[in-house]
Amino acid sequence: MPELPEVESVRRGLQAAQLRAPVVEVWRSAYKLRVGKSWAAENLSCLKDNVPKDIRRRGKYIVWEFAGSGGETNGLVIHLGMSGRCGVTTAAQPKVVHTHFALRMADAREVRLVDPRRFGGLRAGPLDELMASEPIGTLGPEPLDPGFGGELLAERLGASRRPIRDALLDQEAVAGLGNIYAVEALFAAGIFPLVEAHRLHASAWARLAGTIVTVLQQGIDNGGTTLKDFRNVEGEVGRNQDDLRVYGRAEEPCPRCRATLVGFVSGGRSGAYCPRCQPRPRTRTIR
Ligand SMILES: [Zn+2]
Repeated sequence: MPELPEVESVRRGLQAAQLRAPVVEVWRSAYKLRVGKSWAAENLSCLKDNVPKDIRRRGKYIVWEFAGSGGETNGLVIHLGMSGRCGVTTAAQPKVVHTHFALRMADAREVRLVDPRRFGGLRAGPLDELMASEPIGTLGPEPLDPGFGGELLAERLGASRRPIRDALLDQEAVAGLGNIYAVEALFAAGIFPLVEAHRLHASAWARLAGTIVTVLQQGIDNGGTTLKDFRNVEGEVGRNQDDLRVYGRAEEPCPRCRATLVGFVSGGRSGAYCPRCQPRPRTRTIR
């Protein structure tokens, strides 16, 4: 599933396309997208005749701002789900199979969402309403914002009895982190991924907050991680999969100490850790 760096790559790609011409047509396939209940009303037709503005990101969501024809500010939230891809084409280009959404601009270009598995989602409406309601309104802080650090992380997760890796995936605690980057950040911080979150000491939270920022930033610099489906706006794969140090590498040697990496499954999600660099703690608190 696209995580913060992949969604950020798509956001940058859309931004670079400099879409400024008004929307002349909103096209939607007959197929439902399977994202959660709060997305039921897509309300996409409100974007007609709107002028595209700033493209932002919040967690794993693209939030695109539009100037409405009546002076109102609208927004379009795009969730890429498992296999969603956003691209910019000319309107004359035939739609490929699994295209579910197209926004045609007055300059004859189209932004299209192609999503074979249809786990993605779309929602439009007044921007302030979108920002205040689910799924955007309940998201936790952005890990790449200036105020993010160990203290904030401890405040959000310090009481949790869940394994730290699982707790990090809670979007209401921290926005944008998914399994790949959580597993990588825990390795870089030397923290056993299955330790209960409340056992982490302030120094461990600070270290973890630092490595979360580092792995996300590296993911962005590498244009995202492509294990299977992810493509950027240009249709290219990311490069970060080559730089993953433990994720997907169970049974391989640890890149730091050469011990054999151990795979695990928790909360239905797999991961890997180094038994030497991330030892199972013997004391109550993890420093
Ligand atoms: Zn190691």
